Amino acid sequence: MSTDKLMYIGGEWLESNSGQRFESENPATGEQLGTVPRGNGDDIAVAVAAAAEAFPAWRDTPPDARGRWLLRVAAALRARADELALLLATESGHYLGKAQGLVEFTAQNIEFHAGLADKARGATIPAGPGRLALTRLEPVGVTGHIVPWNYPLFLITRSVAPAIALGNTAVVKPAEQTPLMAVALAEVIDEVGLPAGVFNVVTGFGEEAGAPLAAHPDVRSITFTGSVETGQLVMRAAADHMAKLTLELGGKTPVIVFPDADVETVIEATMQGILSRCGQVCIAGSRLLVHDDLYDEVLEGLVERFGQVKLGDMLDPATQMGPLVSQEQLQRVEGYVEIGQQEGAEVLVGGGRPDDPQLQKGYFYLPTVLGNVTNEMRVAREEIFGPVLVAMRWRDEDEVIGMANDSPYGLAAAIWCKDITRALRVATRLEAGGVFVNEWIGEDFKAPHGGYKLSGIGRENGFECIEHYTETKHIAISLEDEKTENWCDAPL
Ligand code: ADP
Repeated sequence: MSTDKLMYIGGEWLESNSGQRFESENPATGEQLGTVPRGNGDDIAVAVAAAAEAFPAWRDTPPDARGRWLLRVAAALRARADELALLLATESGHYLGKAQGLVEFTAQNIEFHAGLADKARGATIPAGPGRLALTRLEPVGVTGHIVPWNYPLFLITRSVAPAIALGNTAVVKPAEQTPLMAVALAEVIDEVGLPAGVFNVVTGFGEEAGAPLAAHPDVRSITFTGSVETGQLVMRAAADHMAKLTLELGGKTPVIVFPDADVETVIEATMQGILSRCGQVCIAGSRLLVHDDLYDEVLEGLVERFGQVKLGDMLDPATQMGPLVSQEQLQRVEGYVEIGQQEGAEVLVGGGRPDDPQLQKGYFYLPTVLGNVTNEMRVAREEIFGPVLVAMRWRDEDEVIGMANDSPYGLAAAIWCKDITRALRVATRLEAGGVFVNEWIGEDFKAPHGGYKLSGIGRENGFECIEHYTETKHIAISLEDEKTENWCDAPL
């Protein structure tokens, strides 16, 4: 059933200034789900103005009260969990079982950040007997959030929740592939009654709505998650008005398997790492580096298990993997597998679309393993963002650390090694923002998340995100009644 929606600005439901609309579709079936306004720079200007108007009162709302507003949003999300999970399944291709878990994860994420509202604090500085010096964390003002389609609910709240908790107002530009999810979140927030203008959503395309949001001079911080190329554009736009920036970009996560690892566990975790969300995850474990002793055994197991993964209806509980998000994404994955073969890689399993005519209607691609890969190949260096694993052998610890670090990216890395001394030694030498040892965790909002090198700038989640959503003000106070020093003797 198709539904047509509006944008949420200043507590009101609005059409775009242009009057134009665009469709959101179901990537598993190609079915049209509904239309949303095609927002542009004019709409961004209205939304930023609404957020700026709401800012002083929100900044001055007691921190614990701001936190309680967010707790109400989390509760309201849970109350609508079934509906939101269904939308995640139909609009973005999360199968229903995972989608329900994601709504709960999102609610918990909001609750964590709600707690920052009255816990983020400054410091006193040992400035000497005649002076009291302290720092105060203050909100930055209007914050911009440019969000991708792979986790369309969680990734909005991951940055909006801390921004709002810490006294800022927010303008969100969701991805054009998943606008209905952002509108659904706005409906929840509207139902809760969050003060008008604190949270705003402008639906639209990247160049038409995302770019003007990044370039708007009144936007004081920008959180962007997406591709490196677009992140670089956002960074250039932010430079003109010196907005704070957090960029969470791509990755090519190395998964390093040592000879003492448990093969069954490695196989299961590797599948989760690359097939979860059909590989469309920035931290996807896409580069498997297996010690020569285990390489054949691990690859044999993976090939067998990849071939058994059940693709299908997103609402069927038996489904284990969904489609890619769009035709464009499908072509990208197909293109990379071809490039890999031209470079000399061998398709060990998968390497194409499923035969089932029902699945041909959507953007499904088979779980794929490429063998005979070297670290120099494009399939080993570039982010494919699909269910394609590249596998390589190694023999020596220094060699594998070199291979892992020889990448333009540095978002995450995984180590499978029972010798914990060795595992920790390797962990300290990897160039990655997150290192997972003997486990595959997707994301933990209590810990910082972000990358080295082309994977981005800044950290989201944990206490580390506070820096992005606050300005630090230093206040220096003289404790002396009279100034005794001659002005000429002062050091500066
Ligand atoms: P993808 O993740 O699909 O490769 P992007 O990184 O381009 O694509 O998209 C992530 C988000 O950035 C989306 O919300 C998209 O609309 C937005 N976006 C795309 N181009 C721009 C741009 N030039 N300026 C700002 N935002 C953009």
